[in-house]
Amino acid sequence: DRSSLPDAPVRIRPEIAALPPYRQGKQAGSDSYKLSSNENPFDPLPSVLIALQSAAAVNRYPDATAGRLRQRLGARFGVSPDEVHIGAGSVSILAQLILAAAGPGDEVIYAWRSFEAYPGLALVAGAVPVEVPLDADARHDLPAMAAAVTDRTRVIIVCSPNNPTGPIVTHAEFEQFLAAVPRDVLVVLDEAYAEFVTAPDAVDGMRVLGTSGHDNVVALRTFSKAFGLAGLRIGYAIGHRRILDAARTTSIPLSVTAQAEEAALASLTAESELLERVRVIAERRDRLAEGLREIGWRVPDAQGNFVWLAAGDQATAVAEAFDEEGLIVRPFAGDGVRISVGEHESVERVLQIAASVVRTLP
Ligand code: PMP
Repeated sequence: DRSSLPDAPVRIRPEIAALPPYRQGKQAGSDSYKLSSNENPFDPLPSVLIALQSAAAVNRYPDATAGRLRQRLGARFGVSPDEVHIGAGSVSILAQLILAAAGPGDEVIYAWRSFEAYPGLALVAGAVPVEVPLDADARHDLPAMAAAVTDRTRVIIVCSPNNPTGPIVTHAEFEQFLAAVPRDVLVVLDEAYAEFVTAPDAVDGMRVLGTSGHDNVVALRTFSKAFGLAGLRIGYAIGHRRILDAARTTSIPLSVTAQAEEAALASLTAESELLERVRVIAERRDRLAEGLREIGWRVPDAQGNFVWLAAGDQATAVAEAFDEEGLIVRPFAGDGVRISVGEHESVERVLQIAASVVRTLP
């Protein structure tokens, strides 16, 4: 049998061998809607596609520092280019930050349930993941997270809006939290969905960073969601130079392509047009969340481009019911179902199916 190689005797770190690989949402068939990965349903703008083609030839390496994009984002947010760091998706920057700050035996605190990559990134660094349960409204319990800090804590991740449950952390809550956390602990504010937020009291990483004394905070943002570049893999961090220099040190060199940088620059040029789409998605989200609540589902405050059905033990069955109707959603067994806000018609379909599913549940 030539279909597989003989077993290798190579020793793998046991904590890595024990770790399941990242689980991606299902891919959709041509007759279904893919609502399982919080992607942007809009096609890329023509100007972004043109920019992609105009990027440097593929036989040349990219600019390792993504200098033009750092310059542009620095100007956009009123910080120096050294206070901006670009990565192949914001998740790769998070990995770099954790590697830079947390080593074997150190602790990484985050809320649970939250983004599925967090535990794996902590374990890969050799660190100990410390999960602090969300409260009854599926929100971060920041006082409990601050209380979980020990002298081994090196990183705390706060996800606002929280993936997959939806609620934000308020600005006041975050300020109080920072006051309770030692200044030598890195606080990563994961704002992958920041642009979709409509709650006026939500934390805003850029505002936090403008406040003196908060130089242990890094804000993490991405072009994957609001700007629709998920497939190109490009995200950014804003924060203190010393912290971002450490992330640059732990990064894999040259992982951001010239094509991704060029498309990100073009997206910033077209920002107002793209943010108009974001507004449309946020409106669909509100209609979807409201509609689901009207038919009896428990849906926490939804501030990203997705809604959360708190389906508990029914999560897998509910997701399968959507699946059968051509709506690919994301189940979290025993907990809930996350549904991304997609095409206009998909919102109507979700509401129809949700209404029929609710009638079949015990
Ligand atoms: N943070 C959160 C909370 C996310 O949901 C995601 C994407 N699912 C990411 C970070 C990573 O996004 P990307 O690497 O595409 O920038």
